[in-house]
Amino acid sequence: MKQSGDNLARGGSYHPDCRLAHPPWWVFNAPMQAVQLIAPGIPGTFELREVPDPEPGPQEVVVEVMACGLNHLDLWLESGGLPMPVPLPRIPGGEIAGRIAAIGAGVTDWQTGDRVSIQSNLFCGQCEFCAAGEESMCLRGQLLGVQQDGGFAGLVKVPTRALVRLPDRVAYTAAAALTLAGSTAMHMMTNRAVVRPGDWVLAMAGASGVGSAAIQIARSLGARVISTGSSPAKRELAQKLGAEFVVDTADPDWPAEVRRLTGKRGVDLVVEHIGGAVLVKTFECLARGGTIVTCGATAGREVTLNLWPLFVKQQRLVGSYGRNRTDITATLAAASAGTLQPVIDRILPLRETAAAFALLRSRQVLGKLVIQPGAAV
Ligand SMILES: [Zn+2]
Repeated sequence: MKQSGDNLARGGSYHPDCRLAHPPWWVFNAPMQAVQLIAPGIPGTFELREVPDPEPGPQEVVVEVMACGLNHLDLWLESGGLPMPVPLPRIPGGEIAGRIAAIGAGVTDWQTGDRVSIQSNLFCGQCEFCAAGEESMCLRGQLLGVQQDGGFAGLVKVPTRALVRLPDRVAYTAAAALTLAGSTAMHMMTNRAVVRPGDWVLAMAGASGVGSAAIQIARSLGARVISTGSSPAKRELAQKLGAEFVVDTADPDWPAEVRRLTGKRGVDLVVEHIGGAVLVKTFECLARGGTIVTCGATAGREVTLNLWPLFVKQQRLVGSYGRNRTDITATLAAASAGTLQPVIDRILPLRETAAAFALLRSRQVLGKLVIQPGAAV
């Protein structure tokens, strides 16, 4: 990799984000460090290894990873539970913010040093869905950190079409905490469903990445928000983020509380990402004509649905997957404007990545876990 310009791009600027990483170990031309999943399991086998720097091909860039968030998708990868073949070893991590360290042939719109977020739904840019701007429906889509090496590493290689410019006012750690979870909520609530002023929105698991963003996005769209939480700390956080009411899901009859809070009417929109029996229960919270938009199935992929109330009450169950670049741009603009703030549980160095997986699996975190590769000296 080129050195003079790269050293400047990779460690020599004075943006406030760089303080923790000053000076990164790779300034001294050491090989890149990366966390690789060696064998799946609960827990999976991870190793922190030195691996060759990725080289950018035509229309590709290599991004210095300044921060990379941990997501439930990473846990599916760790456990071997994804419905797609994953070649191992694999570097996980899709919620990446960083700055461009090297550019490949034919790249004209980007320069080394540019601050970027990355669209982790890698898309072909050519199929009918990509042409319509619906990259998350791409016929040849791949997941960064699953089908290609991701961001728990010093560097990551991506095509330029996956890049989104990072506003100056948004820190790398904030971008990493929002790029995937926040933009997932943005896609659910502004692309796959609609939130109107005065609507009731039920944002499930308000202390989670998607839930915490959903509360704030719903509020900024003028909705009244109910959220859920399984512990006092999680419920308190959801309330701080703007939920008018927060229901304790430890009570098996918690949907009755949602109906009571809405005067027996139910909510207009449920932002659901848990799945299993939880998704089925959310139908009990739903108003006539209401919509459940769902993007996850952590608690189970197969459910039994009673179709009678679904069509009698003219309700919708809508799937949502990933995000488009427009969703990321909207998410980062909201972060820059201060209407959407990430909830970060803690920031950890690269060598703590396996421990971060265990922490997320324990469900004892409030908000995002963010890995900062530059801090792993
Ligand atoms: Zn496509």
